[in-house]
Amino acid sequence: MTDDEKDRLAWATSRLPAELRQNNVVYLHLVGGLSVESAARLARASVELAAAEIQAAELLLPGLLALNPLPRPRQIPALGFRALVSPAAMAAGRSDAQPCAACGKIGLGYHALECDATGRLWNNHYVCEFCTRAGRVEALGLSFNEVDRAQLDTTLARVNPDLASSERSIRTESLSREIIFCTPRPPILQPFLWPAHCGEYLGFVAQVSTDDLCALSPDGDGIQLFRDRLLTAEPPDEEWILGSWEYGFAPKGFTHVYLWRCLVCGEPFLTSDNE
Ligand SMILES: [Zn+2]
Ligand SMILES: [Zn+2]
Repeated sequence: MTDDEKDRLAWATSRLPAELRQNNVVYLHLVGGLSVESAARLARASVELAAAEIQAAELLLPGLLALNPLPRPRQIPALGFRALVSPAAMAAGRSDAQPCAACGKIGLGYHALECDATGRLWNNHYVCEFCTRAGRVEALGLSFNEVDRAQLDTTLARVNPDLASSERSIRTESLSREIIFCTPRPPILQPFLWPAHCGEYLGFVAQVSTDDLCALSPDGDGIQLFRDRLLTAEPPDEEWILGSWEYGFAPKGFTHVYLWRCLVCGEPFLTSDNE
């Protein structure tokens, strides 16, 4: 196995359902190259359990590997999904059990959107964690998010000027697919395009209040942070900035503001539902 193959396999194993990752035997056996017995011993699991987990994982891994991940995936210490960087981001599902639209299993699911030729419908489809990670919604004509491909492409060209344009479009496509088909939609009120920076899609953190922004700003100047870090096509109107700040952000006021972080440079960014 080459290093890249090993990386891809590690990437795919990290996207297995939680119950197949809890003992780590799948990783130890398939990526680490240990025998089933050694992996079981190291994980303090029974050989039978280890073998059953490996067998289940081997059925799922081809589908995960077919997702064509990054040649060198970056490890982000996130709760499950790479571009969702805080527990608050994981909330866009239903708290009651639903049948998974892809596998039929009843459990907690993430909300997927239905697309048709005319645009997007907001019918209710719930998809379980495994099917989400495996990108199975694509085959059902469903998706979770829309992305700002052009922004990703521009920033990718900026941080990596030597990358051939064919390579760049492969990378753009692969990163976009991960957001569109494998990343649960963050709890954002209005339709939005997932923003990008430094040649990566941003990590969604949470909806924030004016107090949160004051706490986040190194000098406590929350409104300046709001002004500087808001991602908008046009520079925001100063009157709107002042008004939104004065009323406070939703749920207290009317303006919903969301915090993101660049997965590469770590800089914070903000988006808003109504500007
Ligand atoms: Zn499922
Ligand atoms: Zn960045």
